[in-house]
Amino acid sequence: MKSHYRVVVIGGGVVGASVLYHLAKFGWSDVCLLERSVLTAGSSWHAAGGFHALNADPNMAALQAYTIDLMEEIQEESGQNIGLHMTGGLTMAGTPDRWEWLQSAYRVFQSIGIEDCRLVTPEEAVALNPIMSAEGLLGGMWADREGYLDTTGTVHAYAGAARKRGAAVFEHTKVEDLIQTRDGWHLVTDKGTVTCEHVVNAGGLWAKQLGRMAGIDLPVSPLKHHYLISDTIPALEDLAFEVPMTVDLEGFTYLRQDQKGVLLGIYEIDHEHWAMDGAPWDYGMELFQEDTDRIERELTLGFERYPVLQEVGVKTWVNGAFTFSPDGNPLVGPVPGKPGYWCACAVMAGFLQGGGVGKTLAEWMIHGEPEADAWPMDVARYGPYAQNRRYIRETTGQFYSRRFVMTYPNEQLPAGRPLKTAPAHEAMTAAGCQWGVSWDLEVPLYFAPAGFSETPSLKRSNAHDIVAAECRAIRGAVGLIDITGFARYEVTGPNAEGWLDRMLAAKLPAPGRARLAPMLSETGRLKGDLTVFNWGDGSWWIMGSYYLRAWHMRWFRDHLAEGVAIRDLGEEICGFALAGPRSRAVLGQVAETDISGLPFMGCMAADIGLIRARVARMSVTGELGFEINCRYGDHAVLRRTLLEAGAGQGLRECGFNAMLSTRLEKSFGIWNAEFTQGYTPGMTGMDRWIDWDKPGFLGLGAALAERDGNGPAQVLVTLEIDAADADASGFEPVWTGGEKVGFVTSGGYGHHIGKSLAMALVDRDRSGVGTPLSVHVVGAERPARVIAPSPYDPAGKAMRG
Ligand SMILES: Cc1cc2nc3c(=O)[nH]c(=O)nc-3n(C[C@H](O)[C@H](O)[C@H](O)COP(=O)(O)OP(=O)(O)OC[C@H]3O[C@@H](n4cnc5c(N)ncnc54)[C@H](O)[C@@H]3O)c2cc1C
Repeated sequence: MKSHYRVVVIGGGVVGASVLYHLAKFGWSDVCLLERSVLTAGSSWHAAGGFHALNADPNMAALQAYTIDLMEEIQEESGQNIGLHMTGGLTMAGTPDRWEWLQSAYRVFQSIGIEDCRLVTPEEAVALNPIMSAEGLLGGMWADREGYLDTTGTVHAYAGAARKRGAAVFEHTKVEDLIQTRDGWHLVTDKGTVTCEHVVNAGGLWAKQLGRMAGIDLPVSPLKHHYLISDTIPALEDLAFEVPMTVDLEGFTYLRQDQKGVLLGIYEIDHEHWAMDGAPWDYGMELFQEDTDRIERELTLGFERYPVLQEVGVKTWVNGAFTFSPDGNPLVGPVPGKPGYWCACAVMAGFLQGGGVGKTLAEWMIHGEPEADAWPMDVARYGPYAQNRRYIRETTGQFYSRRFVMTYPNEQLPAGRPLKTAPAHEAMTAAGCQWGVSWDLEVPLYFAPAGFSETPSLKRSNAHDIVAAECRAIRGAVGLIDITGFARYEVTGPNAEGWLDRMLAAKLPAPGRARLAPMLSETGRLKGDLTVFNWGDGSWWIMGSYYLRAWHMRWFRDHLAEGVAIRDLGEEICGFALAGPRSRAVLGQVAETDISGLPFMGCMAADIGLIRARVARMSVTGELGFEINCRYGDHAVLRRTLLEAGAGQGLRECGFNAMLSTRLEKSFGIWNAEFTQGYTPGMTGMDRWIDWDKPGFLGLGAALAERDGNGPAQVLVTLEIDAADADASGFEPVWTGGEKVGFVTSGGYGHHIGKSLAMALVDRDRSGVGTPLSVHVVGAERPARVIAPSPYDPAGKAMRG
């Protein structure tokens, strides 16, 4: 072992080995991997080795597809047999809703370019997997790229291929402490100290401890997991092919062939955490005693689905542990506030996702940015709140037990909630508020009559009419919306203006003004759809999406300059918005400062009732609107003040669902739908806000190249869909004449204009207004057409009025 490496990867499981391989492959060969025991000695040696295409998150599904495609490559490159069995796979549905969901998922796969799937009837499925009973099944999805592999062989193949490219691997070398230095990290190991610029936590079951060594509490926990391997099944002895990898969604099981028997794995409803603070250091290649009582329900379902199991014995039980994050996706990327410390942990399905994780992390380290949008696995998607032990226990447990359970888009899950509430929360709840969650915060969805309960549905729900009434109030009178769930950052210091000028692609607003401001990365991709405020007193605000707080703060801090201070105001400032033609009249009644002359996109300090507020005239809904920002302590009083002032003006308290419907009628995009770090200003229309004459802002060169080149292949459009009882939600494919020409970025019902709307990225030559298209909505193909942006008030008179 040398005394210094550019990168040290800690952990010789499938994930660490993949990170090492990708670093070497992309050109960094001064890298090594340290493993406290032998390669595979964590979760990796006893994994079932299965891989299947389905993932509820399209970005994760794309990374899984990458991993699967990589397998043959690493086998060839390393010369190590990985026992690859590409059996294909089935995912089966047994309830009407699940079957509908599977049909939608199939369409989403088409959107993201996973084409080798098809829907199958239960009869076709049984022909493909003859040991499966079709009892109760409604349909399934077949995918070519599914199967299983030899787990130990795969880890050795990654490591072997990495070694061939110059990387080093040291087994029996335990990292005992991590010390941050000016230039990187000191790793204290039982074989001496080694220094490096970058350290990667790929510690799997021990990731928690490796985090704590660096002062980080990662939101990750191990949970136990069972599978059984059956004795030889006579029916398989005579079969000329291997049965496919099969997931029975209602049965909580997955199955694959294992020699002439099968392996049946179980996602346990009655889950069990293990070693929440990280596995013991003396934990070796051990297994736990099986606990068949705890998994009896799932086993019964499994034995009913595969009746042959009732006739043969169990050869082996495996009860092992592997790790989960709160949403089940990996924790990858640079840890905020710890330069040179990278995560590649909480990878629940290392053999399915490890390749994608390794590729993403290596690109990030080498190029400063991964090729694909890494948001769904970015370690910075969580804030400090997610370090709480109970939060971790509840959310990881919920994810595990619901691994094969469908979550409806309008469904609210209980784990880790309520956590943070706005000060007016109780009063709003008393007024009927139904809550959703954004990051740690409860956010208002809509206000319902007492006793109302929303039915989870893929289609329009029983809250549809309630949201319609709130939209009417916004369009016809005035709505009051709690905007605690917006992120606010304060920028001050002698160089604040210069720094903002470099960070944001827009012209900075004059004192007393605000402006929409795209933020770009060096490669010209979007990093934010922000609003920048110039309060005129030397202080500036940036506003954005609440749940991006840790992610944006990491970006800001990584690019901070001398003479600039940036502060996240998310625990100090909250507020309410007034939206609607009567909002000025309502605010005027209680404003002690004259706000009547405040222009559109103007901002000022103002006294509202007894509150010293910061008021901005802006509009997410497309109506005349004001955002009134106050201290947390003032929130409840601000609400009461505005409710009283609005009593005679038809004011109605509204939630985010109405805000989302009205913004869609204005073709206003939102982050993680129309805008992501995978997209560019030219694609999304964000280029409208770029100040092309401004020198030297981040991403200028790449943005100019896009503007002056051939232009983006796809552009953002607004669609009207002839939908019946459901609306598009995101990632549905868009077609013309059987040819796929794009996908939906978000959709919903425009309550005021009475139409089902969507925004979509479509091929430029199909983006003209009037182009006839079709869209799959909940699996059913619906006619659609491109309409001019902003179907409501295209001239913007209402919001400027
Ligand atoms: C029963 C079961 C079945 C599974 N089936 C599948 C499946 O079918 N498909 C699939 O994709 N996944 C499956 N998994 C999950 C899979 O095993 C994990 O996702 C994967 O192994 C995670 O790999 P890893 O590299 O992150 O962690 P690990 O395999 O836990 O590796 C971490 C490594 O880090 C080393 N390490 C930790 N701390 C230190 C230190 N301080 N110094 C040096 N080294 C250290 C450890 O010794 C260990 O070798 C299954 C898991 C279980 C338990």
